[in-house]
Amino acid sequence: MDRTRVRRRSDEASILHADLDSFFASVEQRDDPRLRGKPVAVGGGVVLAASYEAKAFGVKAAMPGRVARELCPRLVTVPPRFEAYTQASKDTFAVFHDTTPLVEGISIDEAFLDVGGLRRLAGSPMAIAERLRQRVREEVGLPITVGVACTKFLAKVASAVGKPDGLLVVPAGTELDFLHPLPIERLWGVGPKTSAKLHGRGVHTIGELAAVPRDALLSMVGPASGRHLHALAHDHDPREVVVGRRRRSIGSQSALGSRGRSWDDLDATLVALVDRVCGRLRKAGRVGRTVVLRLRFGDFRRVTRSRTLPEATAHTPTILAALRDLLAGNRRLVIEHGITLLGVTVTNLDDADAVQLALPFHRGDATTLDEALDQVRSRFGGDAVQRAVLLHRRRPLEMPTLPD
Ligand SMILES: [Mg+2]
Repeated sequence: MDRTRVRRRSDEASILHADLDSFFASVEQRDDPRLRGKPVAVGGGVVLAASYEAKAFGVKAAMPGRVARELCPRLVTVPPRFEAYTQASKDTFAVFHDTTPLVEGISIDEAFLDVGGLRRLAGSPMAIAERLRQRVREEVGLPITVGVACTKFLAKVASAVGKPDGLLVVPAGTELDFLHPLPIERLWGVGPKTSAKLHGRGVHTIGELAAVPRDALLSMVGPASGRHLHALAHDHDPREVVVGRRRRSIGSQSALGSRGRSWDDLDATLVALVDRVCGRLRKAGRVGRTVVLRLRFGDFRRVTRSRTLPEATAHTPTILAALRDLLAGNRRLVIEHGITLLGVTVTNLDDADAVQLALPFHRGDATTLDEALDQVRSRFGGDAVQRAVLLHRRRPLEMPTLPD
């Protein structure tokens, strides 16, 4: 996937956020005409995606299938076909890359595109966006919504408001007129808890939020969330606020003493370290692309091994798998020299909202339900879907509540 960063802010509305509508469900309706116009849910145990006809009944992604069928007795449930979604994603991204070289993929079905320099070649951003929609409709057979604005943040809000199958342009200079009438739930970081707190204070729209003095907002929702929301409500990209003091890596290490360790011991230590590091990544809202394994031996020799992942991630199993691989690759060294320190670092960091979790769909192998659930969580942030062993964990950040 393209790693190019899209400009943070442009002088004209020329950043596109393109997002397929009800992606999985749309692929099913595309491939089976009998499903068209019907309320469709992909996934039986947990809804992975709902068609707009199903959404009209209140059916949502990450909802238990049982609840969905209660809401919509006529719901047609189909099993997921991840290969078809992967192919559709590739086809859609081919259109993106054909539109502009500046594509920043953020998940299987959405990307930012910077079309600022293309006016002479390809026309206005609005014309480019309209053509993009038409091409995805004709060449991939899927509806896609495009939001156009001066910032990635607003382009993403615009595409959410423009759904389904829409185009919404926020011209430069009209950002606050667009933003302020919207409900606060449109802001990234406003989950159910924050939303309830703010509603309790009579704050329902982004305009009302913007009118709350910064200090008052900080005491209402806490300092981190308060600063973030204050910036967003005034259309300041919150990421600009922290430029220059971002951490470049997050790591942890564990001294093992000089007595011999079994391989299982080492693995347990590795699991604990990865757990800690990934928790800190998620808490900081960061994702990392390179994992580093550091080993120190009884003779104080040090060895560092690293691997760069295909996608930046804060996903514990993905990072753990890479590090286990690195550790296994040095098994002989570990056994012969006696390891005294094990360290884990994730580096090459990015903001989690700019680059989402590595998705299982870009790999060729089989996708398990577990991975599919991770995908749902990564996109919808639902606490409803949790691995049993992770139930005790609190989610560090409330995730977006933007509709699909
Ligand atoms: Mg989508």
